[in-house]
Amino acid sequence: SLSSSPFHLAVIGSGPAGFYTAYRVLKEHPNTLVDMYEALPIPFGLVRYGVAPDHPEVKNVQNRFEEVAKDSRFTFIGNVKYGEDLTLKDLKLQYDAIVFSYGAGQEKTLGIRNENEPIKNIFSARAFVGWYNGLPQYRDLEPDLICSDTAVVIGQGNVALDVSRILLTDIVELSKTDITEYALETLKNSQIRNVIIIGRRGPLQVSFTAKELREMMNLPNTKFYTDFELIKNELSTNVDIISKDRPLKRLMQILEKGMENTSGYKSWSLKFLRSPDEFIAHENDDPSRPKYVRAVRFHINRLEGPLENRIAVPTGEMEELETGLVLKSVGYKSIPLEGLSFDENKGIVPNHKGKILDNDNNEQPGLYVAGWLKRGPQGVIATTMYDAYETAEVIVSDIKQDKPMLSNDTFKYGSKVIIPILHQRGIRTVSYKDWKKIEEKENEAGRAKHKPREKFGRVEDAMQVLDT
Ligand code: FAD
Repeated sequence: SLSSSPFHLAVIGSGPAGFYTAYRVLKEHPNTLVDMYEALPIPFGLVRYGVAPDHPEVKNVQNRFEEVAKDSRFTFIGNVKYGEDLTLKDLKLQYDAIVFSYGAGQEKTLGIRNENEPIKNIFSARAFVGWYNGLPQYRDLEPDLICSDTAVVIGQGNVALDVSRILLTDIVELSKTDITEYALETLKNSQIRNVIIIGRRGPLQVSFTAKELREMMNLPNTKFYTDFELIKNELSTNVDIISKDRPLKRLMQILEKGMENTSGYKSWSLKFLRSPDEFIAHENDDPSRPKYVRAVRFHINRLEGPLENRIAVPTGEMEELETGLVLKSVGYKSIPLEGLSFDENKGIVPNHKGKILDNDNNEQPGLYVAGWLKRGPQGVIATTMYDAYETAEVIVSDIKQDKPMLSNDTFKYGSKVIIPILHQRGIRTVSYKDWKKIEEKENEAGRAKHKPREKFGRVEDAMQVLDT
């Protein structure tokens, strides 16, 4: 009977959300076959392309994912883009259920003047991170780190601190990491000595965490400055609240201690109460030459409202900051793909504990979501893990309750049928074994340079390994 045949699950996206969901369903419902489709020939999503190269300990989760990939009930199918190479219709016939975990493939914008002008050296942090981490999309970003000694980073979260730290870290330290060689080359010649990190609200509203802040404070030869008066003022007027909020208290202690970092030929600063208003380019009469960014103009804000709901209100005053490099670090953004409902306001696929809802809030049989696509582009890998486990629990509970899935009447063959269809469409699918071959080449190239690996920056180059 059909009930003893395995449950066929397709997973779209091979980041932490995809792997943790697969792991949990395989564990809780052993009679399952999981096929994981990934747009790139390479697995692991932001663990590889987001997490900073000087955080190798964070990347150790890849070993856990590798355990999942080795399970005989699991198949990795890389180099397959859902929505282009593969449609919902294809999958519906061959799977009982689908988990969408394709993350946040775009970035939020500021919506300010000149943001869409072709001014050189203004990038999203997502692009800059992708560039140094080897994300093929940004291989040719070519940031200019020579034209100025000052960078402005807009946003005060962990990604803002990651990109700032990479700009200020000693090149010898970086060269021991898996940062891409082309990025290392550019950073070697970098003239950037000062990084100014901008937030629209105050010190109590920053969204980075203690570990990342401490790393900034520990940068050698780098002084730290900020509006210490503002910090002192905020601390003294909110003593009670801060004492009850341990993470916040810890952050404030690190900030206060940072006041002692007063020497060094490099610097970084936290600038509060500033909202960007306009990017300003260098004057340049020759239209064939690109215009470089010269400055950012900001509104100066003041804070209003109770601490739990502080808002930034413009004072009417403006300020211009000179800079030759701007990194916009105001968040990632998910996009809707073929066949999926989408909540444009929240930027997520609407769901109840991971079960996808249609636009009228009805549960959609057999469709699930996990990770950043489910709850928005926030949270560390551990948060994503718990979130993926929740989705997996719902899937298993639906199986046990015999809830309707994609279509209950046909026998499913999963990737046994889908892979030949993809090949007919001219797509060279990449198996996990193929990926290990690619990885071996990366490790080999890395060993020669005394670094953990040298990533392929282009899809073609990675794919070429498989032809030899
Ligand atoms: P992702 O990791 O983005 O995975 C999505 C996957 O889907 C990708 O592999 C993508 O290629 C694939 N995909 C996209 N579109 C398609 C498609 N159409 N078809 C098929 N596949 C597709 N967390 C920590 O714990 N520690 C850190 O130090 C840390 N640093 C970070 C640094 C940065 C810059 C960023 C952005 C995040 C960082 N995080 C860190 C957070 C962590 O990376 C996320 O919590 C986690 O990766 C989210 O997992 P996900 O699976 O939802 O998305």
